[in-house]
Amino acid sequence: MNIHEYQAKELLSRFGLSIPLGKLAYTATEAEWAARSLSCGKEGRVAVIKAQVHSGGRGKAGGVKLVKTPDEAYAAAEKMLGMTLVTNQTGPQGKKVNKLLVAEGCDIDKEYYFALVVNRETASIGIMASTEGGMDIEEVAEKHPEKIITADIDPTVGLHDFTIRKLSLALGFGLGTPLAKDFAKTLKGLYQAFLEYDCSMVEINPLVLTKKGTLAILDCKMSFDENALFRHPNIADLRDYEEDDARELEASKYGLSYVSLEGNIGCLVNGAGLAMATMDIIKQTGGQPANFLDVGGGASQETVTQAFRIILRDNAVKGIFVNIFGGIMKCDVIANGIVAAAKELGLKVPLVVRLEGTNVELGKKILSESGLNILSASSMGDGAQKIVNAVK
Ligand code: GDP
Ligand code: MN
Repeated sequence: MNIHEYQAKELLSRFGLSIPLGKLAYTATEAEWAARSLSCGKEGRVAVIKAQVHSGGRGKAGGVKLVKTPDEAYAAAEKMLGMTLVTNQTGPQGKKVNKLLVAEGCDIDKEYYFALVVNRETASIGIMASTEGGMDIEEVAEKHPEKIITADIDPTVGLHDFTIRKLSLALGFGLGTPLAKDFAKTLKGLYQAFLEYDCSMVEINPLVLTKKGTLAILDCKMSFDENALFRHPNIADLRDYEEDDARELEASKYGLSYVSLEGNIGCLVNGAGLAMATMDIIKQTGGQPANFLDVGGGASQETVTQAFRIILRDNAVKGIFVNIFGGIMKCDVIANGIVAAAKELGLKVPLVVRLEGTNVELGKKILSESGLNILSASSMGDGAQKIVNAVK
C-alpha cells in the first residue's frame, strides 16, 4: 500500500527527522492561507506547491511549483487543482490532482537520493544512496549505475555504525563532521520508521543539503507491506481510495484478486498459481494479458458474472480466456456463470474456455447448449493459441 507525500512526512516527523513544514490544501484559497501561515513572501521566504498524487516525476510534469508570495500560491494552486498530471509513472491516462501540499521552501545546495527497501535476495533491508539525487535518478541508475551506492542491513543485527560511516564517506559527508552526525541521525530515524511501520520501501528523493549546511527531507515515498497492515490500523486508515485502480477496488469487493495490466486478453482463472501460468502461456504464445484475475476457490455464479463485468470494463480487452480447474469449484457452476454473464453483458469479444476437473462434462454441455459463440479448448496451450489467434 502506498500513501501520499504529506502523509509520509507526517509519519516521519515523529522520528526526529528534518522536514520542511507543510499544510494540505484542497482549494486555491486554502493554498494561499497555507503559504501566508508559512511566512511565504516575508524576508524572501518561498513556498512550494506540490500535487499530492501517488506518483513520482511530478516535478517534470508540472506538479511542483515554487512560489514567492501567497498570491502566487493561489494562482499556482488554481492551475494545479483538477488538472490531470501525466508523469513517467502514471501511464498516459495520468492522475487527477485533488489536493496539494504547501510546504516551506528550502534553499538547496545539493540533492541526494536515499532509499530503504526490502531486499529479498539477501533477506535484509537494502539501502540505496546517491550523490546524484533529484529528478533524473532513473537516468543515473541506467547510465551510471556505479553512482548508486548500496549497503544491506541485517535486521537481526540492526544498523551498524560502520554501515553509517561507509555511506557517509561515500556520499561525501565525511567522518565526525557535523554533516556526518546529521546524516547518522537521518539514517537512524529512517531505519527506525521503516521497522516500526513494516515498510516495504521508504524513498527520499531528494534528500537535500541546504545552504545552511544541514540535511532535509524534501520528498518522500512510503510503501507498506500489506500483510502487516493488520498491525497498523492507523496506517491502513491512510489509504486513499481515489488513488486505487477503480477496477481493482471493485474486484476486492467481490473477493476477487484482480490486477490490471496493459495487454488485450482478459483472463478469468481460479487459483493464483494457475492465473500466473495462464499469463505466462499467453505471453509465450505471442499475446498480452490484460489482467491477472483469480476468482478464488469458492466462487459462485454471481462472482463469475462480476469478474466478467470487471474484465469487460477495460476497453482494451479484445478477447477473454477462461481457464478453470474445477476442484472445490465445480465446472458446471463456472459454466452457468459464464453463460449468465455473456447473456447479461452482451459479450461482443471472442471467448475461449478451458474447463477441467469436477463436473467437467456437465460444464461443457452447459456451454455448448447455451447457443453462445464460445470456443472450447482441450488444454491450456490449445486455449492460449485459440485466444491469441482470435484477437489478432
Ligand atoms: P517528484 O518530481 O515527484 O519526485 O517531486 P519532488 O518533491 O522530488 O520535487 C521535484 C524537484 O523540485 C526536487 O528535485 C527539487 O529540485 C525541487 N523542489 C522540491 N521542493 C523544493 C523546495 O522546497 N525548494 C526548492 N528550491 N526546490 C524544491
Ligand atoms: Mn522526488
